[in-house]
Amino acid sequence: MARWIEETFHPHWRVRLEASKVLHEVKTAHQHLAIFENETWGTVLMLDGVCQLTTLDEFVYHEMMAHVPLMALAAPTRVLVIGGGDGGVLREVLKHPSVAKATLCEIDRTVIDLSLEHYPQIADGCFDDPRAEVVIADGLKYVADTRERFDAIIVDSSEPIGPSAVLHTRAFFTDCKRALKKGGILVTQNGLPFLFPEHLRATTEIFASLFRVASPYMCTQPCYFGGPFALNWASDDAGLLDVAEATLARRVTKRGITARYYTPAVHRAAFALPGYVAAAVDGLMRAIKSTVKSNVSTNNLVAKKAGRR
Ligand code: SAM
Repeated sequence: MARWIEETFHPHWRVRLEASKVLHEVKTAHQHLAIFENETWGTVLMLDGVCQLTTLDEFVYHEMMAHVPLMALAAPTRVLVIGGGDGGVLREVLKHPSVAKATLCEIDRTVIDLSLEHYPQIADGCFDDPRAEVVIADGLKYVADTRERFDAIIVDSSEPIGPSAVLHTRAFFTDCKRALKKGGILVTQNGLPFLFPEHLRATTEIFASLFRVASPYMCTQPCYFGGPFALNWASDDAGLLDVAEATLARRVTKRGITARYYTPAVHRAAFALPGYVAAAVDGLMRAIKSTVKSNVSTNNLVAKKAGRR
């Protein structure tokens, strides 16, 4: 008799996935962890009742978390990933040849160990890369204490529950800002704005109060049920949000990066927010309005040239 494993995050609706084989289930010192096989989605990681990733579609989120900030930078050398114990974001970060060192600060060693045991293809050897440094610690404490400075900080956290809750706070983002180099970029995962607009607004409010530029950007993560998924961006250099598509394309070629979701056009289009998302953060995004307008006009321009309008 197959077992069905449910997401328990949403109070009034649930998603169930058939577990054709439960590979591991444990209450770690930090969270409930379940890894199981599903005929459709491949291997699934669930933490505290929330689907975190599946081997079928993990590339979407990991590519957009890593390549949007790093492609916007001419030559990122020092990157910090908070969370991300599965290695997916770290794998994508290390595809950038200019990255000399990437630190992954993960609170729960069990996530790394079991990810390597049950779906090593996601990390794809990145933990063995000499440029990778793994720190097992609470990301909140790590950024508060670190004297290092980073070109990009990528917060690959879970939902704002359990150990991840602190990674969605002003104190944490304030310390992230201090740990960035001048002109550095902070990105974080920011949930499902269709269902939780208040979560997106809260993070954008903090970002806009700490940085010159704040803007959500979107991706479509099939296993995150509830509509398009929001990531969020903060930096003090407005120009980084408006890197020309041709420049992004040159960087993709020069860096020899292949991706299945990320493209230069998707990079720019991701910041063109659906009306209800823009409304959720209305009045908060400084220095971005002109960029979004130019994004949209550029896209229209491209469409006109291609005779698509
Ligand atoms: N990368 C996945 C995806 O595709 O959506 C999901 C995110 S990842 C699994 C979230 C990670 O954040 C988990 O490994 C969890 O242990 C880690 N984490 C949660 N709270 C943390 C904290 N305070 N500091 C560092 N890592 C934390």
